[in-house]
Amino acid sequence: MEIGVLALQGDFAEHLGILTQIGVKGREIRLPEQLEGLDGLIIPGGESTAIGKIAVDFGLIEPLRQFGLEKAIWGTCAGAILLSKDVHGKQPLLGLMDITVARNAFGRQVDSFEIDLSAPFLEVQDGEAKSYRAVFIRAPIIESVYGRAEVLLKVPHGQIVAAKQGRLLATSFHPELTEDDRFHRYFLELTR
Ligand code: GLN
Repeated sequence: MEIGVLALQGDFAEHLGILTQIGVKGREIRLPEQLEGLDGLIIPGGESTAIGKIAVDFGLIEPLRQFGLEKAIWGTCAGAILLSKDVHGKQPLLGLMDITVARNAFGRQVDSFEIDLSAPFLEVQDGEAKSYRAVFIRAPIIESVYGRAEVLLKVPHGQIVAAKQGRLLATSFHPELTEDDRFHRYFLELTR
C-alpha cells in the first residue's frame, strides 16, 4: 500500500508524518507521472488558490481528476475545497465531489478553533467510542451536499464539516495536526 500526498504547498509533511506513524508508505507528489501506482492520495491543508494555481502550472488538474474517478482522494481543509464542484468564485478546482464549499466561513474572530465531535464511524479505542477533536484553521464550511455525496460530520451549530462520496473524502478540519490517527486509518479503509 502506498499513499501519495500532494506536495505543492501547505502541510503535506504532517500528513506524511502520520502515515509513517501508522506504518504506511507515503510519497510526495508534485508531477502527474508520480501518481502512477498509488492506492490513494491526500490533498493537504494550505491555501487552495495557491495549490490550484501550482496544480494548473504543473499540468496536474486533469491527471488528479482522472485519479479521483478511480481511486481514493482525501482533501483536508484547502484540499476539501479543491475536491468540490463549487466555491462561489473562480479558482481551479478538481470538481470531483457533489459539494458546495464556502471558504473561510467560520468568521474572523474564530479563524482557528478546536472542538470535540462525535464520530461513531471512527475506530473504537480501548473498547470505547471516543469523540474526535477536530482542529479548524481558517476553515471552509461544506455548505451543501447533494447528488452522490453524503454528510459525515457536523459541528454542534449544524454546519457540515466532513463529507464522503464513494472513495472521496472531504474534511474542513486538519487530522494531520493532531496525535489522533483514526481519520487517517479511516481513509485507508476507503482505499481498499
Ligand atoms: N482558508 C484556506 C483556503 O481557503 C484553507 C485553510 C486551510 O487549509 N487551513 O484555501
